[in-house]
Amino acid sequence: MTPGVRPLIAGNWKMHGLAADGLALARAVAAGAAGLKAELLICPPATLIAPLVEACAGVVALGGQDCHEAAKGAHTGDISAAMLKDAGASYVILGHSERRMAYRETSHRVRAKAEAALAAGLIPVVCVGEPEDDRLLGRAEEVVAEQMAESLPAGFGAAGGVVAYEPVWAIGTGRTPTEADIAAMHAMMRAKLTESFPGAGAGLRLLYGGSVKPGNAVAILALPHVDGALVGGASLVAEDFLAIARAAG
Ligand code: PEP
Repeated sequence: MTPGVRPLIAGNWKMHGLAADGLALARAVAAGAAGLKAELLICPPATLIAPLVEACAGVVALGGQDCHEAAKGAHTGDISAAMLKDAGASYVILGHSERRMAYRETSHRVRAKAEAALAAGLIPVVCVGEPEDDRLLGRAEEVVAEQMAESLPAGFGAAGGVVAYEPVWAIGTGRTPTEADIAAMHAMMRAKLTESFPGAGAGLRLLYGGSVKPGNAVAILALPHVDGALVGGASLVAEDFLAIARAAG
């Protein structure tokens, strides 16, 4: 944890949730949020952002899971940052490895999306992380440093942008890097942030994501420069998500 930085516990619901169960889950999370040190963020499917606003108001922030880099136009099936904002979002996840892989999103495209998010008044949560091959080849830090250099736009620091380190091989697998590996990666990332965004970079939130569960959250969130978590599977169970949030202090 970085001293003086409010932790952020973000739930990525991915493509899970219809209106009734999404609302029940958001209400259960909101009901347990009082008194937590951490800020809570739910990123549901875009269809659920507006329906969850009332249940989350003032207690849990809402975010999108992606946006297009254009403000508007002929982009069938896409959603703009302004549309997410209009629906009630204040954050947007960008560059998740599932999108980098399934839609071949490059870091340059992620940066364009982050610029669009900033222009619309959303806080980008930019995901970076190495595939397993790169970890095995000893290239993990190099890959993540390059993704950061190419994905984070000017203005990211001043807007309080968030970076999530999510090793691709740890997402949804139940596997995590060692605590030493997470700490080393986050130290490198902090150094890059302070270099790229003098002043702001020291206080920007760096999240860890990849198989965070109630059982490992205390140890992970206690590591230096880990200012919260991006949670997939465990964010779909209110008690697990809240237990992770409580682990942040
Ligand atoms: C994610 O998809 O961002 C994620 C971290 O998933 P999980 O927690 O299920 O590994």
